[in-house]
Amino acid sequence: MDLRDRPEDEAFRKEVRAWLDAHVVGDFAALGGRGGSGDETYGFETRRRWERLLAEGGWTCIGWPIEHGGRGASIAHQVIFNEEYVRAGAPGRVSVLGEGLLGPTLIQYGTPEQQARFLPPILAGTELWCQGYSEPNAGSDLANVQTKARREGDDWVITGQKVWTSGAHQADWCFVVCRTEPGSERHRGLSYLLVPMDQSGVEVRPITQLTRTSEFNEVFFDGARTPYDHVVGEVGDGWRVALATLAFERGVGLLGHQVSFRRELDHLFELAMANGKTSDPVVRQRLARSYAELEILRFNTLRSLSGYDGPVAPPEASIIKLYWATWHRQLGELAMDVLGPAGLMVDSAPYELDEFQRTFLFSRSETIYGGSNEIQKNIIGERVLGLPPEPKGTAR
Ligand SMILES: Cc1cc2nc3c(=O)[nH]c(=O)nc-3n(C[C@H](O)[C@H](O)[C@H](O)COP(=O)(O)OP(=O)(O)OC[C@H]3O[C@@H](n4cnc5c(N)ncnc54)[C@H](O)[C@@H]3O)c2cc1C
Repeated sequence: MDLRDRPEDEAFRKEVRAWLDAHVVGDFAALGGRGGSGDETYGFETRRRWERLLAEGGWTCIGWPIEHGGRGASIAHQVIFNEEYVRAGAPGRVSVLGEGLLGPTLIQYGTPEQQARFLPPILAGTELWCQGYSEPNAGSDLANVQTKARREGDDWVITGQKVWTSGAHQADWCFVVCRTEPGSERHRGLSYLLVPMDQSGVEVRPITQLTRTSEFNEVFFDGARTPYDHVVGEVGDGWRVALATLAFERGVGLLGHQVSFRRELDHLFELAMANGKTSDPVVRQRLARSYAELEILRFNTLRSLSGYDGPVAPPEASIIKLYWATWHRQLGELAMDVLGPAGLMVDSAPYELDEFQRTFLFSRSETIYGGSNEIQKNIIGERVLGLPPEPKGTAR
C-alpha cells in the first residue's frame, strides 16, 4: 500500500485547498471549524449559507456519479477532500444525511421522478433531511418498527413515533421506515417513505442531551401525509432499502473523522504541556498510546479502503467504527484527566462546554449511533470472521 498522493491526487488536493483557502474567510472562518457532532446548533444559519456556497463551487456530494450532479470522486479523492476540509477549518456540514444517506439511496433505488425532485436540492444545500428509523422499541432491533402508514386516495397517512431523530428540528424532509402492510411482522411489510416535516401531522420534540444541546428529537406522526408516489423501492420492500441506507451510513463514517481527531489530539498535547500534566508519567503514556492508536486507525482505514471504490462500505467498516468510537470515548476520558478540576467547571447557566467537555460527554453517543459497539461486534463476528450467527430476530 503506497500512502503517498499520486500525481492526480496531488493536483486534486491543490484544487481543493485553493478553493477552501479562498472561501473559508469572514463569517465562515470565524466559526473555527465548529458545528460538528455535539455542537450542531453552533452558527447554524451561517453554516446553511456556507452549504450553498460549497454547492455553487461544486463541492457538495462529490462522491455522487456525474450524471446525478456529483463529481464521481473516488474514495481516495473523498478522503483528500475531507482531510483538506478539516485542515482549512471549514464549517461543520449541515447536509450530512441528505448527501451521505438519502442521496445514494435514491440513486440506487429511486425512480427517475424521485431523483429529479429530490437530488437537486440536496446538491444545492437547500433541503435538509433527517432519518426516521429508531423507535422506542426499535433501535438495534430495527425490524420491530411499529409506525404505520395506510393509503388514502393519492396519499399515505402516517401514524406513530420515532425517537433519537438527529436534526429533525432543522430538517425539511424525513425518510421514514414504516409498516404499510397491516398485521405484518419483523422485516416484512415495511416501506420507505419520504415525508415532509412542515405539516400539522408532524410534531417534533427536542430531547436535551448531556451536552445541553438538542441534536436529536422525538418525532410524532399523527395523521401526517405524503404523496403515494413518495415511496422508495416497492411498497412492502422497505427493509431492503433501509439496509442499503445503513450500509451507506457505515461507509460515510469512515471518511470524515480522522483528521479532526488528530486536531483534537494536538490540542490535548498543547494543553498537557501548558498545564504541566506531561510530567505525570501515566498521563504521558496515555497520550503516547492515543497517538499510536490514532495512527493505527489511519492505516486500518486506508487498508480497508484501498482498492475499494464502491459507495458502500465493506463489512470490515465495522472494525473501524468500533475502533474509532472507542478511541474517541477514551480520548474524552483522558482529556478530563489532563484538565483536572477545571474539567468539572462551567460558567453559570446558560453555559457553553469547552471542546474537551463536549468530547467527553458527546463521545458516549458515538458508541451507540450508527450501530452500537455490541452490534458492530456481532457484525464482525458473523460477517468478517464467519463465526456462527446469533439467534435471528434480535439485532439489525
Ligand atoms: C447521538 C445519536 C443520534 C442518533 N440519531 C438517529 C437518527 O438520526 N435516526 C434514527 O433513526 N436513530 C438515531 N439514533 C438511534 C440509534 O440508531 C439507536 O440508539 C441505536 O440503534 C441503539 O438503539 P437503542 O437506543 O434502542 O438501544 P437498544 O437497541 O435498546 O440497545 C440497548 C443496549 O443493548 C445492546 N444490544 C442490543 N441488541 C443487542 C444484540 N443483539 N447483541 C448484543 N447487544 C445488544 C446495545 O448495544 C445497547 O448497549 C441516534 C442515537 C444517538 C445516540
